[in-house]
Amino acid sequence: METKRFDILSGDYESAVKEASAILIADGIVALPTETVYGLAASAYSDGAIKKVFTAKGRPQDNPLIVHISNMDMLKVVAKDIPECAYKCAEKFWPGPLTMVLKKTDKVAKSVSAGLDTVAVRMPYEKSIRDIIDCSGLPLAAPSANISGAPSPTTYKHCLKDLDGKIDAIVMGNDCEVGVESTVVALFGSKPRLLRPGAVTLEELKTVLPDIEVDKAILKEPEKDAKVASPGMKYKHYAPKTDAFLVEGDSENYAKFVNEKENALALCFNEDLPLITVKALAYGTKADEKTLAKNVFAALRNVDSFGVSEVYIHAPSKSGVGLAVYNRLIRAAAFRVIEL
Ligand code: AMP
Ligand code: MG
Repeated sequence: METKRFDILSGDYESAVKEASAILIADGIVALPTETVYGLAASAYSDGAIKKVFTAKGRPQDNPLIVHISNMDMLKVVAKDIPECAYKCAEKFWPGPLTMVLKKTDKVAKSVSAGLDTVAVRMPYEKSIRDIIDCSGLPLAAPSANISGAPSPTTYKHCLKDLDGKIDAIVMGNDCEVGVESTVVALFGSKPRLLRPGAVTLEELKTVLPDIEVDKAILKEPEKDAKVASPGMKYKHYAPKTDAFLVEGDSENYAKFVNEKENALALCFNEDLPLITVKALAYGTKADEKTLAKNVFAALRNVDSFGVSEVYIHAPSKSGVGLAVYNRLIRAAAFRVIEL
């Protein structure tokens, strides 16, 4: 199929919003920017549209999608038995990169939640997706707009590389400001539980949810056939074709370690660069972990172009936004961590 292109940077914004909305109302699928990563959107009411998303991405059927909304009335359409703490989180973190898992209503198509009785909901702050939700009147189910297993897309070019010809349209906007997917927190059980770290940090969540628990699958490889709270966490993710390893240590030890490797790439911090003698690619500054989050997926997409056999990735801290970056990188490295 031909993928229609709506350029909202230099083209007509209003007609892009209208045309993208019309495609979504007609059960089509559209890649579009959000502040976290680009999403592949479909009507959350339509099993037919959702099926197209799973097919285009090659996504495992048991991995549920996040539903994007633009206002609090829509929250009540898609979720029920909403606890008080969810309203508190909404007040503090919405619109923004926080997803809450709540009890699902029957309005939401079954395939969105892969058969679970819960639904993951987020109110993004990116203007274009909010305008498309308002214009179409639809809550939009949208996973990341990449082929399943590949690094998530943070530019429209990444989406086109993976999905051109497989989807109805793409809204071509700015590069994503955050760069990693949303924080996911389950709020339907007896205690709140962090299922996936993101730009809304654990430290920030604790100010509203003091008794929050952290799912161990965030930093550990789930055991074979284990039941995981967030199905997405059991899949191999974000991996370049090059063999990847995550390396923990200070700049000097990291440089010493990687400089002894033949035919390797150092995926490192800006601060490491002067010490590295092998091929190197910096993915941001360790002094500001937000830069690591913003660049990490583009860097992972770049790794294979260096023609090396191994990539050694300098691990960020596990605090603040660093935890989200670490969570993605440990998966890209298939849980192979080298502690120096
Ligand atoms: P993606 O949209 O590709 O960023 O992935 C969505 C993430 O949210 C995956 O890790 C899913 O497993 C998780 N998720 C979505 N819906 C639910 C749900 N109802 N319960 C638990 N996790 C969910
Ligand atoms: Mg994804």
